Amino acid sequence: MWKSVPEMAKEATRVIDGAWQHASLSVGIEFQEESVRALAELATKLEEFKKHAQAKKDEDTANAAYGVCLYARGVLAFLSMWIDLKLNRLDTAWDSLIDAQNRVGCALRVQPNESFEGINRVLHFLEKAIFPPQLFTSSGHQFRGLKCNICDQEYGECDHVSGKLYMGVMCTRLVQEITEVDHVAIVPDPADKHLRLPVWFEGGVVRCSLTRRLAAQEDKPTQSESQIESASRNEDAPMSREAEPPQPSTETIWNAVLEAISHALGLAFATCGIELQGEAINKLADVEDRVEAFWKDARARNNEVEANTAFVFLAWLNGAAQFLWMWLCIKQDEMEKAWDALIEAQEHFECGLRFAENEGLEGVVEHLHILEHVMFPRQRFMSGGWIYDHAICTLCESVYGECDHIAGRLYMGQMCGKRPINIEVQHSSVVTHPHDKGCRIVALQDGPDFRCTLTRRVTEPVDPSVEHWQFQATILRVSRPRGIVRVEFVASEAEAT
Ligand SMILES: [Zn+2]
Ligand SMILES: [Zn+2]
Repeated sequence: MWKSVPEMAKEATRVIDGAWQHASLSVGIEFQEESVRALAELATKLEEFKKHAQAKKDEDTANAAYGVCLYARGVLAFLSMWIDLKLNRLDTAWDSLIDAQNRVGCALRVQPNESFEGINRVLHFLEKAIFPPQLFTSSGHQFRGLKCNICDQEYGECDHVSGKLYMGVMCTRLVQEITEVDHVAIVPDPADKHLRLPVWFEGGVVRCSLTRRLAAQEDKPTQSESQIESASRNEDAPMSREAEPPQPSTETIWNAVLEAISHALGLAFATCGIELQGEAINKLADVEDRVEAFWKDARARNNEVEANTAFVFLAWLNGAAQFLWMWLCIKQDEMEKAWDALIEAQEHFECGLRFAENEGLEGVVEHLHILEHVMFPRQRFMSGGWIYDHAICTLCESVYGECDHIAGRLYMGQMCGKRPINIEVQHSSVVTHPHDKGCRIVALQDGPDFRCTLTRRVTEPVDPSVEHWQFQATILRVSRPRGIVRVEFVASEAEAT
């Protein structure tokens, strides 16, 4: 047992900081489980330390132990959320997140801490980023009275103040005898976020509030198999699109783009069913085919405005598809691919936003940049200084500067680029904020091993601990020369049984 508060604080900081190293989603589940065990042990020791202090009537020490213990349990709940998600325990994952929010929020009130202020913000961001919007029940009731939990007297008659610490115990008001329930309401912002409605109402149908699957299908595993088949049948769908009316208006195309993107973004959460996410990607690919035809047609008609608009739509459709693809990769425990998809999603959305304003999508980009930092450990990149002879214009193939095209601008639905010729690298350096995130350091040496910078696993003999991820299907990527790659589902062995 620790002899003093500084001694206690020193070990607690060591354990909590160590666990925090594993607090990104991409880190291997085995490391996260190890940290949860370490935190649980620390919490037990802190409880004991508090009891000793209480016995010695040492209030400062008891209160300090109470606060640190809340922080430890907060981080424990945070890590448990990632583990729950990876094990497909979606309801528990929600409860773990809310526990983490409540514990860290409560700890901050009794023991302010700057770095946990940041963690608190992350926890509230994740509620909106990992889970689709939720509804809650809230009730108003009448009760006979409130009691103080510390001295058992009527609250208000004693000197204890709710929310304050007394000898390592937080004063709370206990409701005495509920006499009547006034009302029960469904609200988006409740006092207690554990009271979540398990269902979501949408367009006249009832869906699971976390997976967004039809509620009736939730219990029938066979249902997802038939959905998987229909997803792969979609493959042939574009063939029949020859009969589309020629020259659809910008407005018709925009409506189709908008609908596909908002449908996709409505499913761009960790808990949404993978077959729904895959279908949404295929729907984006269908719309992409239409926009591509529109783009070609606009170019043929020399309509630069329409061709440029189509370019922007294509960028946004690809951004949405990469965002969903990121979640599919995460669910397959393929963190490198997930990273790439996240960066591609950022770049596609940003590329479109250079030429057209869209407030909603600007919000999505901001969201994607925060996700980068809360789901993956801080990455490092190689950045080079280089010189080249001259550059070629990607539009007309003449020497850049000799034509009228300017790099980064749109011409008849195509973006001008500079292709350097005879590159000579002069130096390279490691940076955290690169111009181009493509050149990432994927593994770092740790003693005799190299570890993946995303999962922290030793890179050579990889054991992806597949059994941790409850696959519902194996995803095959069907290659296509460019643009959105359709997703095909193949029933996995687990599902066949
Ligand atoms: Zn009291
Ligand atoms: Zn040119």
